[in-house]
Amino acid sequence: MADDKKLTTREADFSAWYNEVVLRAELADYSPVRGCMVIRPNGYGIWERMQRALDDMFKATGHENAYFPLFIPESFLHKEAEHVEGFAPEVAVVTHGGGKKLEEPLIVRPTSETIIYSMFAKWVQSYRDLPLLINQWANVVRWEMRTRLFLRTLEFLWQEGHTAHATHDEAEEEARQMLGVYSDFMEGHMAMPVITGLKTNAERFAGALRTYACEALMQDNKALQAGTSHNLGQNFAKAFDLKFQAEHGGQEFAWNTSWGVSTRLVGGLVMTHGDDVGVRIPPLLAPTELVIVPIYKSDDERTRILEAADRVEQKLLDWERRDPGRLRIHIDDREGVKPGAKYYEWELRGVPLRMELGPRDVDNNQGVLVRRDTRAKKPVSLDTVGEDVAELLMRIQEDMLIAARDRREANSVRHKISYDDFKDLMEGKGAFVYAGWCGDAACEAQIKEETKATIRVLPDEEFRSAEAPATCLKCGRASTAEAVWARAY
Ligand SMILES: [Zn+2]
Repeated sequence: MADDKKLTTREADFSAWYNEVVLRAELADYSPVRGCMVIRPNGYGIWERMQRALDDMFKATGHENAYFPLFIPESFLHKEAEHVEGFAPEVAVVTHGGGKKLEEPLIVRPTSETIIYSMFAKWVQSYRDLPLLINQWANVVRWEMRTRLFLRTLEFLWQEGHTAHATHDEAEEEARQMLGVYSDFMEGHMAMPVITGLKTNAERFAGALRTYACEALMQDNKALQAGTSHNLGQNFAKAFDLKFQAEHGGQEFAWNTSWGVSTRLVGGLVMTHGDDVGVRIPPLLAPTELVIVPIYKSDDERTRILEAADRVEQKLLDWERRDPGRLRIHIDDREGVKPGAKYYEWELRGVPLRMELGPRDVDNNQGVLVRRDTRAKKPVSLDTVGEDVAELLMRIQEDMLIAARDRREANSVRHKISYDDFKDLMEGKGAFVYAGWCGDAACEAQIKEETKATIRVLPDEEFRSAEAPATCLKCGRASTAEAVWARAY
């Protein structure tokens, strides 16, 4: 399956390393259409587990799934001025269908605000119909010029939540709540720590009142915007005549939110946890959590070891019945592939835990567990293997988050940095830089121009520095907000 050539190291060329890992761990492949990707089972298995966890979280917060069409009348995009300006350059347009020129061209959705709020306008009459809390799992198309597998592709998979509320404050609470859901998911499932906060006007979603984001620091010290949540105000409600009969009488425009995460998260997971051997998948998202590699020389040994492997699997399944859905196990009984080659391949593919099972182990009623994250080995008794594996997987999940958070903090710089040093840092190894900002968009634009760094977020209170910065990083005027700067994907 996998070839034996060593991966390019992260140190030598992070970008080449990333592409090689994605291809060789069989997460995705290039497609015949430029800029599109094929997601392979090892990558799709991660996405499916992400979907399942997020879907549960959306439903637990009162949302229902629905589905809206891929095609949107072109005129819809033009109804919200900022929205069309933001998306028009990257929209794919269908002009012909069934061999005929269409009367009105259709756009392939780059996002679904317009079509969804046009439908909400039909469905909402009174304050009693609110809030309306909808999510859809879908694909969208954005005609990007420079593409990277998972990170930026012409077509990608995502979910987009869309809600309508009676008041600004309810919409604001919803936008903040979903940002919290994302950040819980990213830390709890992906073991990827994020900073949450508000986007500046320059970085805000086209058509939104306010955009909030989760930002993670990748191993090359570039930021990844991992998820966004928007308070759309009444902009789309006004454009699509989404009105309701208010409780105290009279017609009012609804307040909307939208929020989304995409298959980009799989790329984020690779760049957060991968090492020079391959990808490392946190147990909660791993399509296979434990692989058992039997070791034998003779046929007789083979029979004995495979029997023991089956016993182990049974033990684990028994344990699983006590804790449903916990364990996903694979016995790699391929013949003609040496154990060492199997280890190499499963490490490349990121399986969090493997068990080596040889004749001497079986004689001693044990197996050897090897962690993918630290590569530490631990012999375990075959009698208690269910418990031991479950516990170790939980430990790996926690340790991966701690390691990722330590790395991020070691690569975060707080204040007391001159603009020259900041420029050097952005051109060199990169970082999250917490610094003061005067609030002037011109200053922000100039920094971007000179360093390619952008304000990732104006961080939420829990991420802010103990002492608020006094002056702007660039101009030295009084700071009005602490900002987190980085170059970004
Ligand atoms: Zn300034």
